[in-house]
Amino acid sequence: MYYVCVTINFIKMTIFNTKQEITEFINTQKLAHKKIGFVPTMGALHEGHLTLMKRAITENELLIVSVFVNPTQFDNAKDLEKYPRTLDNDAKLISTLSKNAIIFAPNAKEVYGNTIKSKHYSFDGLEFQMEGKFRDGHFDGVGTILDFFFTLLKPTNAYFGEKDFQQLQIVKKLVSKYKLSVNIVGCKIHREASGLAMSSRNERLSVPSKKEGAFIYKTLLVAKEKFGTKSARKTEEWVENQFAKNKHFNLEYVTIAETTTLKSVKRKSSTKKYRIFIAAFIDNVRLIDNIALN
Ligand code: AMP
Repeated sequence: MYYVCVTINFIKMTIFNTKQEITEFINTQKLAHKKIGFVPTMGALHEGHLTLMKRAITENELLIVSVFVNPTQFDNAKDLEKYPRTLDNDAKLISTLSKNAIIFAPNAKEVYGNTIKSKHYSFDGLEFQMEGKFRDGHFDGVGTILDFFFTLLKPTNAYFGEKDFQQLQIVKKLVSKYKLSVNIVGCKIHREASGLAMSSRNERLSVPSKKEGAFIYKTLLVAKEKFGTKSARKTEEWVENQFAKNKHFNLEYVTIAETTTLKSVKRKSSTKKYRIFIAAFIDNVRLIDNIALN
């Protein structure tokens, strides 16, 4: 076995960049019957990512964190270009969590070869809701990269945040439909004290916009109360009006959806579980959030 141990700013962290290196490493871990916990990320790590990693550390013997800004899940070249990349700091943060952690940070060529292109997946309609309507090809990109990682890294458990709730449901579908051998674990959204959901994109917000960002969560909480007595559509309209009155935000969508199918709700049923989802722009930065309604 051999691997690269990188020292960045005096922090020792093993970072693999190639499929060959990581495969050799994984093979030795599998021979030793190690339980592998995997947290896929696009880097620019924050406390929200770290909650997933802390859980993975308690439930596994080895943590693998991928840091890869996946080009095929972006439909906007500017957004891809502006996505923050902070590998040194990411390595530093992970090194404070556990000695039994490594990073896999391939480049796009290592993942895709010479042609950066998604495979096509069917997620039984989950992919056509919400984010799927506004981010062309996004979930094919997500499916392609996770299929790649799961096959290469052979994790026992993989950890995903409810912050990207639609993605979490799609990953569960990917695993069940395409019979991949990994257990998917969903983790609660980690928020700033203000209520703003933590996100790598928050780094691009000005200080006043970050403060204003708390408006999303505040609105979701009131919407939850409204949903107790109002229809789904009336609740969505109320949210739309709140955003229309707020000059800082451009609302892309608000949707109340059933939790498993993610279909928007026409008539409420007391036997079903619902969540409310929002995507909105502030400072040209796209933020998403969601909460459970019942
Ligand atoms: P990303 O780097 O944005 O692709 O996120 C990597 C993983 O971290 C995804 O499963 C996200 O849902 C999760 N994540 C990001 N932000 C949060 C947060 N604030 N709370 C919980 N999980 C999060």
